[in-house]
Amino acid sequence: MAKAISLLSGGLDSILATRLLQDQEIEILAICFQTPFFGFQKAEKAAAQLKVPLRIIDISEEHIQLVRNPRYGYGRNMNPCIDCHILMLKRAGYLLERENFDFICTGEVMGQRPMSQNKQTLQMVARNSGHEGLILRPLSAKLLSETLPEKEGKVDRRRLLDIRGRSRKSQFELAKRYGIDDFPEPAGGCLLTDPAFSRRLRDILTHQGQVQIRDVELLKVGRHFRLDESTKVIIGRRKDENERLLELAQEGDMIIKVMDYPGPIALIPRGSPKPSIEIAASLCARYSDAPNNIPVVLLLEKGRGEERLELPACSQETCQSLII
Ligand code: SF4
Repeated sequence: MAKAISLLSGGLDSILATRLLQDQEIEILAICFQTPFFGFQKAEKAAAQLKVPLRIIDISEEHIQLVRNPRYGYGRNMNPCIDCHILMLKRAGYLLERENFDFICTGEVMGQRPMSQNKQTLQMVARNSGHEGLILRPLSAKLLSETLPEKEGKVDRRRLLDIRGRSRKSQFELAKRYGIDDFPEPAGGCLLTDPAFSRRLRDILTHQGQVQIRDVELLKVGRHFRLDESTKVIIGRRKDENERLLELAQEGDMIIKVMDYPGPIALIPRGSPKPSIEIAASLCARYSDAPNNIPVVLLLEKGRGEERLELPACSQETCQSLII
C-alpha cells in the first residue's frame, strides 16, 4: 500500500485532496503547521472527520524569519505565500525521507490564487522544496506534469481531477458527493492576510531587529501606538485583553495603570525613555473612565520599581496620529 503525507490545513481543498487519495486506498498521515500566525484547530477537526492521524509541526521560529524577508515577496498583505509553501513542503519532505513515505499531497488548485498557484509557481515551489516529482496535487493533477507516484502506478492518475481557477463550484459538488458539509470559509485563519494585523507586523519588523514569538502574540491584543523609533505602547480594550497583556508581560517591560478610575492596562514592551512614557500614560488615561479634562494619577510599574505620574489624557487627534 502506498503511503502519503497530506498537508491538511483543514480547508475544503485539503480535505478533498486527502479524500481522493483515501478513495485509492492510500495510507495517509496528515500534517499541519503551527506558527503564531495560524494554528491547527481546523486541521484537527478535519483529521477527525477524515479519520486520519494528524501530526502538528511547529515552524514558528523559521516562519517569523521568513516573514521578515521572503525571497518571493508578499501577497496583498504580509502573507509570503510562495515562501510559506516552500517551507511547508521542505518540512514535509524531511518527514517523507525519514519515515519512508512515497509522496506528499497538497490541496492546491491551479489558478485559484493568481500569484501563488499558477502553473509556473506550483512547479517552481515543488522544485525549490527539493522534492520535485513527489508533490501531488490531486485536485489539479491532470493539468500538471505526471508525478513519480503516478508514473510508478502508486496513484491512479485517471482518478485524479482537473480543477482550475477561482470558482469553487467543482469543490462544492465534490464535497456534496462525499457528504462533507462542515468546512471553514476559504482563506480564513492566517493572520498574515489580515490588513490590520499586517500593518502592526510591518511596524515591528521596521522598528525591531529581533522579533520573538511573544512580540507576535502581542500584535493580537489591544490598540497599538508607535511613540518613537524604539517605543510602542499597547492598550487593552477589554478585561480579557488587559489580562492577556499582563500574561505576556516580561522583565524589562513597563506596565501603566490608571489609579482612582476604571481603566485599561498599557504595556510598553522593553520600556522607554521618559518623554514617550508620558505620552503612553496620557494615552492610557484617554481610554480610562477618568474625565478627559483633569489630571489623572497613573501608576508606572517596571520590574520591582513603581512610580506615579499625574497628567491629563491626550487629545483624540494625538491618539489618531499615533495609532498603528
Ligand atoms: S495564507 Fe498564510 S498560511 Fe497560507 S500560504 Fe499564505 S502565508 Fe502561508
